[in-house]
Amino acid sequence: MAIINKSVALTMFLTFQGVLSFGSISRHAVTSTSRRSIVTVFSTAEQAAAAAPTSNEKKEGPIKNEQAYANLKMEEIVSLCKRRGIIFPSSEIYNGFAGFFDYGPLGAELKRNVKDAFWKNFVHNREDVVGIDSSIIHNPITWQSSGHLDGFSDPMVDCRETKLRYRADQLFCSPVVLEECGSTVGFVCVLEANDEDMVKEATSQAKKLLKEKEMKGSAIKAFQFRDLTQVTEEEMAQIPSPGSNKPTLTMPRDFNLMFQTNVGAMQDASSVAYLRPETAQGIFINYKNVVGSSRVKIPFGIAQIGKAFRNEITPRNFIFRSREFEQMEIEYFIPPGDEEWKPYHEKWIADSRAFLEQVGLKDELMGYDVHEGDGLAHYARACTDITFKFPFGVQELMGIAARGDFDLKSHSEGSGKVLDYFDEETKEKFIPHVIEPSLGVDRLILALICSAYAEDEINGEKRSYLSFHPSIAPVKVAVLPLVKNKEPLVEAARDLFDKLSKRWNVQWDQTGAIGRRYRRADEVGVPFCVTVDFETIEDNAGVTIRDRDSTDQVRIPIDEVIPYLSKMIDGY
Ligand code: ATP
Repeated sequence: MAIINKSVALTMFLTFQGVLSFGSISRHAVTSTSRRSIVTVFSTAEQAAAAAPTSNEKKEGPIKNEQAYANLKMEEIVSLCKRRGIIFPSSEIYNGFAGFFDYGPLGAELKRNVKDAFWKNFVHNREDVVGIDSSIIHNPITWQSSGHLDGFSDPMVDCRETKLRYRADQLFCSPVVLEECGSTVGFVCVLEANDEDMVKEATSQAKKLLKEKEMKGSAIKAFQFRDLTQVTEEEMAQIPSPGSNKPTLTMPRDFNLMFQTNVGAMQDASSVAYLRPETAQGIFINYKNVVGSSRVKIPFGIAQIGKAFRNEITPRNFIFRSREFEQMEIEYFIPPGDEEWKPYHEKWIADSRAFLEQVGLKDELMGYDVHEGDGLAHYARACTDITFKFPFGVQELMGIAARGDFDLKSHSEGSGKVLDYFDEETKEKFIPHVIEPSLGVDRLILALICSAYAEDEINGEKRSYLSFHPSIAPVKVAVLPLVKNKEPLVEAARDLFDKLSKRWNVQWDQTGAIGRRYRRADEVGVPFCVTVDFETIEDNAGVTIRDRDSTDQVRIPIDEVIPYLSKMIDGY
């Protein structure tokens, strides 16, 4: 394999032309000790793609900072997203609007790619799933039947002094107990975060409390955290509010998360409607239409991607919990029975995990949370969350629930329409059961950005970049003319750019030193940089394509660029 130091590639190419000529792919190694990056010459896209380094078969190259993710703070992600046009706070010129976000030029591309990948994987690539796109506002009776009007609420506590509101299940208190005598001197109260941060905040509050009680320096027992839904009135009277530092919190009460609106000219009770808090109900109320209009046979699924709205009490952690977000949900209808759902549920958990890996989430950052007992909705047979290790802790990324026949039965009762299924083979009628994989677009985007965040060092120079999987990267390719003042070179690059942009979202960058341009592309996760240089036009020697993660380069004929990138981006 011909390996050349990029910094000396130009001169070497001329010297070794005979050895490196296209047509006969040479394996004569030409290596330099002071290598900056590696250029390998290939005559066809197929050979170049086959030789592309995989993550577990890395040659020498950048030195990865393995601690980068452990040290990553959410502020860095938020700042990167704003700086590079991925995500902005909504209505920022009016000081923002809590719980709402806008996607910038790169974010909009990323979002599109994520939704396309989901649709391709679960709808187009499967014969047993079809898609729909329902209205956001349904007949309000929908929400009565589904149980959302009565039960879609979170427990909320108010701070009487600051008027701030908190989700009671996200505020944790602990008694401060003296090590020596076991007596309780008071309480600390902290917001849910990762264990380390919660203990740090609780320790600082406990120190202040001991000082107030003139017990400075006394040893205390380990904190025993409980959320505020589990405290008595007597305890609440001693628990400090995070806002006032005084016991000014109310007891928890239910707060319905649905946003209300009025439909039509009348603004009274008869015109009240709701913005959907999930996309799932739009699927259930269309069940009969889909069964009647398409050739689906049990087991089959209906998928929907779309906006959902929840008046979250405490939207936080950036786009992890917002008030307007998008969901990608599937209702997969299966035969009824006490045992039948189990293999389907298992399979959907496995398929969901495989999808998340395929779009680039690191395996080691994912886990499972199996809901049992009180954690399970009363109608659900089972629910397993796939979790992700965000910088603020391990949290639910998606849920896969076995919901029995609760939803179709409820809508059947509410609407008076029979929502059953007739099995042509067995001549039986039944209400199907359902498995529901449900994934937030925005939460997945946050996980993808976190998972892709990487730092390394190249010849002593630090680099931070987003190692997005090519299929979801907002920009797939950057086309870089080596210089901007040589017309034929720029023209050749433009011509290539025009061709590539018919297939993918491609970026043109002709400003600054080539190294700076590579870094700019790396920071937003562009997987490939195509450089058109003097050899391209003077020797008809093709272009170089640089791989973001390894920084290795291949030199291939210009006609082979599209086949090469197709393989690397789309997999075929
Ligand atoms: P949580 O417990 O975090 O509030 P949930 O269990 O209520 O979530 P579901 O109703 O099961 O969530 O919604 C399915 C998916 O939709 C979640 O796994 C998540 O990816 C996404 N999601 C739910 N609420 C929000 C939100 N407020 N902001 C962003 N994504 C959300």
